[in-house]
Amino acid sequence: MTSKPTICSTLPLAQEDLFLGIDVGGTNVKLGLIDASGAVRAKDALATPDFITPERVFDAAVAFADRELSSLEGCNFKLAGIGLAVPGVLDSREAVLREVVNLPEWQGKRLREILRQSKDLPNVVVNDANSAAYAEHALRSLGHKSLALVTLGTGIGCGLVMNGSPYGGDHGCAGELGHIAIRFGNEALPCTCGKMGHLEAYAGSKGVVTQLHSLARTTNNSKIASLLKTDNVTPRDIATLAQDGCELCNTVIDQTAKYLGQAIGQMAQVIDPAVVLLGGAMTFGGSQSNVGQNFLTTVRNTIIATTLEEVGSHLQVEFASLGNDAGVIGAAKVAQQVIAS
Ligand SMILES: [Zn+2]
Repeated sequence: MTSKPTICSTLPLAQEDLFLGIDVGGTNVKLGLIDASGAVRAKDALATPDFITPERVFDAAVAFADRELSSLEGCNFKLAGIGLAVPGVLDSREAVLREVVNLPEWQGKRLREILRQSKDLPNVVVNDANSAAYAEHALRSLGHKSLALVTLGTGIGCGLVMNGSPYGGDHGCAGELGHIAIRFGNEALPCTCGKMGHLEAYAGSKGVVTQLHSLARTTNNSKIASLLKTDNVTPRDIATLAQDGCELCNTVIDQTAKYLGQAIGQMAQVIDPAVVLLGGAMTFGGSQSNVGQNFLTTVRNTIIATTLEEVGSHLQVEFASLGNDAGVIGAAKVAQQVIAS
């Protein structure tokens, strides 16, 4: 599903449907024209602060689609539908964002109706984590199987595709993996949500750095001590040091993988998916490094160790593949699925 050059014939062609994907984030809005195979035919991005209201974003997105379609000269493309991916708590029945950080102009508005005023075409609105999960699901041709895409970063989110369709839950909060409790009692760490012992407090990016602080206090590692004094340490720094052989950093990554494996195992035990993917900004080098591979292996082994044999041993646990394009591809693919059904 990577971008591919558009080669148009001079001969008459059957009309081909394209779908507009719009992926709204706090920093930018990604746009993509996606074909039925999931390939990105054109893409662009808008700076969110310049297009702060949904009306302005949708008008700009439609202008992008019209411009790109007219440039595909000799092709017989038609815009068939629009998929919109949004962050926050989405009431998917009403297509209304009930709760969203950094996008106050979007909260409470009927997004499908506004989108239809910009372009009178079938449209769908989906949570951005579920949209990305749906793109990964389509890439793997998983049909009616279920997939969870765990995104690792400041927070820990999870997009769900259940029985082949995105699943948001009755309150728009399905897949809030970061708020699964993994520790209890007086020593449980506080989470950003105000509750105690949640996964995010241990394995979100701040939690990972906190782990390093705790371990450094019990050892005499001058390099790590001076690094921590800068107060600007990130999981990426920890991955780099781990790759260079730092035992302390490898321990932190190993412990993070165990926390994650424990929480993912609890989720897998309940929903029994076929595939779990790890994505986002904090994969410790991902498939490109030994540290990333070891991290993935420990997550997988912890899931196997903490779930029933039939759940853990059959579960595929891998890194995600699509990166930044997943949101627009998934939104467009959901639109395609809804129109076809
Ligand atoms: Zn929490």
